[in-house]
Order: sequence, then structure tokens, then C-alpha cells
Amino acid sequence: MAEDLLSLFPPGSTLDATGTLVVGGCRADDLAAELGTPVLVVSEDALRARAREYVGELTSRWGRARVVFASKAFPCTAVQRVMVEEGLGLDVAGGGELLTALKAGVDPALVVLHGNAKSDEEIALAAEHRIGLVVVDNADDVDRIEATMPAGVRQDVLVRVIPGVTADTHSSVLTGHEGSKFGLAPRDAAALVRRIEHSPRMRMRGLHVHVGSQILDVEPLAAAVAPVAALGEFPVYDLGGGLGARYTWADEPPTVAAYAEALVAAARAHLPAEAELVVEPGRSMVATAATTLYRVTTVKRGVTTFVAVDGGMSDNLEVALFQQRFEAGIVGRFDAADSEPATVVGRHCESGDVLVDGVPLSAPRVGDLLAVPATGAYCFTMANNYNGTRRLPVVFVRDGEARLVVRRETWDDLLARDVD
Ligand SMILES: *Cc1c(COP(=O)(O)O)cnc(C)c1O
Repeated sequence: MAEDLLSLFPPGSTLDATGTLVVGGCRADDLAAELGTPVLVVSEDALRARAREYVGELTSRWGRARVVFASKAFPCTAVQRVMVEEGLGLDVAGGGELLTALKAGVDPALVVLHGNAKSDEEIALAAEHRIGLVVVDNADDVDRIEATMPAGVRQDVLVRVIPGVTADTHSSVLTGHEGSKFGLAPRDAAALVRRIEHSPRMRMRGLHVHVGSQILDVEPLAAAVAPVAALGEFPVYDLGGGLGARYTWADEPPTVAAYAEALVAAARAHLPAEAELVVEPGRSMVATAATTLYRVTTVKRGVTTFVAVDGGMSDNLEVALFQQRFEAGIVGRFDAADSEPATVVGRHCESGDVLVDGVPLSAPRVGDLLAVPATGAYCFTMANNYNGTRRLPVVFVRDGEARLVVRRETWDDLLARDVD
């Protein structure tokens, strides 16, 4: 039981002699005492190991392959810098993600800009910084690029195609089906490709697909290759992200090796041998590298035992957004025999503000520290100020050293924007 739970924390996490969770060599209770709660704890070694695994598994199978981290899964300079240092490019889906990517030291040529509703300002930023690839989602993107690129400069572009593939994941994170708001149906994509090929402001480099997120099966990801191949031969094919992560012990996501094997097999069957393959993992790159620590604020025993903590949907929207299941444990008592079924809820004014619906906890009481594993993906980026919450800090841990990389918001931060 304790081992099952521990296996969901970043690789290398242990329980010390007192049974206390240790991540990156740092005791969870020490981190909470030093930084307060809630706090998002990231194992830097786990991040780096996963980045290397992706690059190794892909490039060993397809020489002209590269990995770009989908920044939106955890867009802060420190995480983006780790990816840059490990040789990855960065995919960004907004001006702010581009700015932190540049701050992290990325080579602009390795940046890929996405978005189904890119603004004039974002296209102008892309042009100003000469980023590598803009993924065209619609004809308005082409109008904007033509209006923005300086004379004599051509923006390299990919065109996003709807592959017409569905997958067994929540509808909120499904993006490759007919009727998706992202990309163009193959016939419309083909027409836009012809327009781009005649544009003096763009260079048509290839095609892009992205099936969805938290996909726990490689087949739908590989199935998106044939529909793009049918649109013709290009130098670049960007096959998106989408591989699922392990949130609970019931999850058995494919390994990165199995994922790379399936994609490359489809590429060998359908794509030109000399083409460059790009993949854009987000969730599966960062989810299990982090854990959130909360303080238990209230325990209410009735029909249900509600264990309320000092965070919730202001630091983890994954549950409310697509009913992602998480696990949890009381720090220091992962393997207690006297566990009782509990529902972990947040401090916010919504009944939907649930972190874990039904989890055995060891005699929870006020003041306990509660750890929720696998919070590295999309939790930081969707953190919000609901109920006047100050957004949580991010701390990197490695070899027993803790390094604050994003500080907690202050009351002054909150009041600074309120200019009435
Ligand atoms: C969100 C997104 C990704 C990353 O998806 P994950 O499921 O987090 O791996 C990659 N590419 C595009 C275009 C995306 O929108």
C-alpha cells in the first residue's frame, strides 16, 4: 500500500526512517515548513530523465527526429530551461509562454507557435523573434502572417490537419476528431497549403496533427499519421503530443519506447524516409515529476469524511475540467493500518472543488500534511485566484537542495492589478 502510493511520486522518492516522504532528497515536512502550503514540488532529476528518455527513444528509431516540450503543460522559466538544457525545443501557445521560453534561453529557431486564435500581437512577437515554426490553424493565421512579416522574410509554417481520429479520453481533451475547433479538415488544409505555397511571406514546411491528451493507448496516436501522409510529401511532420501519464496505480500508460515504436512504425509505412519528425509531449513529460503538498485545515466526519485542505481548484483544475483521478496520502503515515475512506476537498466555494473523491487516509486530522502525486501537468498553468487565493509557489528539489523557482503570490500582487 505504502509502496503503491510511493510509486506515483517522482522517481527516486522514498520514505525515511520515520515514514516521511522524501522527494529529491528533501523531506516533505521541511519543505512545507520552509515554504508554506500549498506548494508544488518538482524533482529536477525526474524532469531531466524523462526529457532524455524521449529524445533517446525517438532519435534512436528515426534519425531526423526532434522533441519539443509543449510548454503549456508547465510554463515557467525553470521547467522550460531544463528542457532547453536537455536539447529539446519548446512549443508555445501564447505570447507569455514565448516570453518565458526566450527567458529560459531557447534558440528561437527551435520554437513552435500554436493556437487556434492567435492574436496580431502573438504573430508580431513570432516575427520579431524569428521563431522556427508557426503552426497555421486557419486562413486568418495566413492573413495575419502575410500582414506582419517584414519584406524579404518568410515564416516557416506547418498546417494543422484534423486527422479524423478519436481516442478513449475525456471529450474536454480530445482534439483530432471531425468537428474539432483545432485545425482544418483535410480538404480545407490542402487548399490552404496551396495558398501558402504561393505566398511570398511564408515557406510551406509540413503538416501537424494532435489527437488529444491523456491517451493511454498508442494506436490512436499512430493512426493520425496516415491521414496527414495522404495530403502529400513535405519536409516536416509534427505528430503532436498526447501520451497519457500515470496518475493512479490503476493507470498503465504506454512507455515512451512503446510510443516511439508505434509512431515510427507508422512513419515508416506512410511518410517520406528523409522527412523530419517532430513530437510535442506535454503531460507525459512533466506529470509525475511533481507533487503538491497541502495542509489539512478541517476534518468533518458525517455520511462522508471530508478532509479539507488549504488549496483545491485554485491549484488543480484537472479534476473539475475532466474528472482526472488523483491519489493522496498523509505525510508520515502512508502505510497506516487505521485508514478510513475520505474525500479530499479544497477550500473553494464549489461542490465540484474536489481533489480526490474517495481515498483511504490514515486517521486524518487538522494540521496534517497531505501529498497529492502527479500534479506536474497543467496544474501550475491553470492555477487561479478564485476566492482571492494567492497562487502557489514552485520549488525544484535535487540532491537534498530546494530551490524556489516561482514564489507564492502576495496580497500586494493581488491588489496591484486592482486599480480602482
Ligand atoms: C496540448 C498540446 C500538446 C501537448 O499535449 P499533451 O497531451 O500534454 O502531451 C502538443 N501539441 C499541441 C498542439 C497541443 O495543443
